[in-house]
Amino acid sequence: MTQSIASRIAKLNPRQQEAVRAIDGPCLVLAGAGSGKTSVITTKIAYLVQECGMSARRIAAVTFTNKAAREMKERVGSMLQGRQGHGLTVSTFHTLGLNIIRGELKALGYKPGFSLFDPEDAKALLRDLMNKDAQVDADQINQVQAAISNWKNDLVLPGQALSHADSEDELFAARVYEAYVRHLKAYNAVDFDDLILLPVTLLRDDPEALSRWRKRIHYMLVDEYQDTNVSQYQLVQLLMAERQTFTVVGDDDQSIYAWRGARPENLVTLGEDFPRLNVIKLEQNYRSTGTILRAANTLIANNPHVYEKTLWSDMGQGEAIRVVVNRHEEAEAERVASEILTRRIKERAEWRDFAVLYRGNFQARLLELKLQHYQIPYKLSGGTSFFSRNEIKDAMAYLRLLINPADDNAFLRIVNVPRREIGPSTLEKLANYATERGGSLFAACQELGLAEQLPTRAVERLGRFTHFIEGVRRRMDGGDAIAAIRDMLREMDYEAWLYQNASAPTIAERRMANVWTLIDQLEKSMDRDPDEDTASTATETDGVEAAISRLVLRDILEQQAEEDDSDRVQLLTMHASKGLEFPHVYLMGLEEELLPHRNAIEVGTVEEERRLAYVGITRARRTLTMTLARQRKAYGELMDCTPSRFLDELPEDALEWEGRADREDPEKKQARGKDAIAGLRSLLN
Ligand code: ATP
Ligand code: MG
Repeated sequence: MTQSIASRIAKLNPRQQEAVRAIDGPCLVLAGAGSGKTSVITTKIAYLVQECGMSARRIAAVTFTNKAAREMKERVGSMLQGRQGHGLTVSTFHTLGLNIIRGELKALGYKPGFSLFDPEDAKALLRDLMNKDAQVDADQINQVQAAISNWKNDLVLPGQALSHADSEDELFAARVYEAYVRHLKAYNAVDFDDLILLPVTLLRDDPEALSRWRKRIHYMLVDEYQDTNVSQYQLVQLLMAERQTFTVVGDDDQSIYAWRGARPENLVTLGEDFPRLNVIKLEQNYRSTGTILRAANTLIANNPHVYEKTLWSDMGQGEAIRVVVNRHEEAEAERVASEILTRRIKERAEWRDFAVLYRGNFQARLLELKLQHYQIPYKLSGGTSFFSRNEIKDAMAYLRLLINPADDNAFLRIVNVPRREIGPSTLEKLANYATERGGSLFAACQELGLAEQLPTRAVERLGRFTHFIEGVRRRMDGGDAIAAIRDMLREMDYEAWLYQNASAPTIAERRMANVWTLIDQLEKSMDRDPDEDTASTATETDGVEAAISRLVLRDILEQQAEEDDSDRVQLLTMHASKGLEFPHVYLMGLEEELLPHRNAIEVGTVEEERRLAYVGITRARRTLTMTLARQRKAYGELMDCTPSRFLDELPEDALEWEGRADREDPEKKQARGKDAIAGLRSLLN
């Protein structure tokens, strides 16, 4: 049942209410974890629509992960009635950027049906460009890719990068950057960072485009503002400079994306750029027990602060934070899995009430095995996601090629999948020919001159392939696009190919089911967001194109943080846990070199690691358990581990140690834990 907005607001504390009602000028809510910042944003959207009569179409709320955007959408949805929420944008920054690009293709000089390159595609292009002059290794490619991403996030265009380069390496990277941008354009493609960069440069340089978007968006709300980078901040600034009607919320102590160009100093810049800025601080935490909050506050006090914040909670002291020292990493994983099993029953909790957080995805591997062993359902975020499966990558490549035949990466991925007897040497000659002609591989297949370069049989095979794709494309244009795509998969018998390549029929079956799921999702995504796309006169194929771009974008974002609403234990990196909360949280691997991470210790960015630990701790509502191992395998060898310095920074009286050398015998406790489980299991069976 929808509650009236007045009663919603009445439940907020006075500072939150003030933040919701401040609608005439720029507003910044600066507050610690769990103080209700996101709640202010969701309530404020409903307030703007219901109380202030603003059309939902004029409101854009942005956040960082798909999961966060979806949660926000749900929360707002429950407050609005009927069609009140129609046309509301609640999305990630990148989706907003994608929508602007789609609406401004002409002004940007792109053709319809552009491709969105994921980081792997971008890497493949960079590899081609860099290998032209000299043989380069994977490290060099990664470095250049990171440099280009940093430039884009800082709004540095190739010309500026070239003129400011002050070392050979930088000059080299800048040259590759220049060629990379040129090639992307020629392929009618954009990369992930372009989703912000292109809208920003367009709005900055094209007054008409700027005025179109200023008319479109009247109010903006930004969650997790501390993690915006230069280009994202510019986007907000460009859109809002005139009206000055926006609300951003953030917490400088939770800035954990410096490595991706985030600028927490954007919080300070905001006050300079918008002198009328109304800064509101929230101090009550509604999420965690007093003990958990005290630990978080004490830890973060070790970092320097721009803004002083105090956070308190009236949730009671709650249980002590347990620190469990284990013999080795396997014992650590075993311990976490078995505890979740027992605690779920003891506390009558759901699986979804538990989250296990760690610094790096590799830490989840052992834990997964243990969870499987106990048959505990779990959801791994950011690991091998749906979209990184081979069959999904194949299907996506077909979709991409259908909407943009110039997408060479997509072409190369599937030209011989299923097998069409098109071998590497044919492809190499084709690529040379295409490069000479300055066109795409797809276009080169259809040129008469190709016959001089390749044997007739090879030319015929390539021709059959392009003809096939064009046929599908025609059917898509002529009617039911989704049906045409389903027919395509059947016609080329992708399923038979899966069976040939799988070690067991059940695996092939599951893979094919994944592909159908993808197509179903595509179909749903076409139905779902008709007004997200600018052209209301969109044809069926336009709709598919938009839906495919959205899928590719989701693919990229989902590798950072994934969704799932079913009842499972959540396994996430601390980075991906931002903004979320769980009754019971396990933080694994509290050891030097893991948290803080070895690289951070080396380059002196321990403060960011401390913020990461702060984010992890503040996800917990009722209980927090930290685990570590005395020995861990690294580089094939068993290494001794040192407890994390962050443990020393927590208030000693908030912690309850278990297994520390100078306390109780760890083996004894472990054995006791196992006994308890054995007992419980026998009870359940
Ligand atoms: P984070 O910094 O981790 O993103 P946040 O500041 O965005 O946290 P929210 O997620 O909005 O905090 O709120 C934390 C919890 O407190 C939520 O469960 C929310 O429903 C609850 N909450 C927020 N405000 C109030 C309030 N005034 N009264 C009761 N509960 C509240
Ligand atoms: Mg939040």
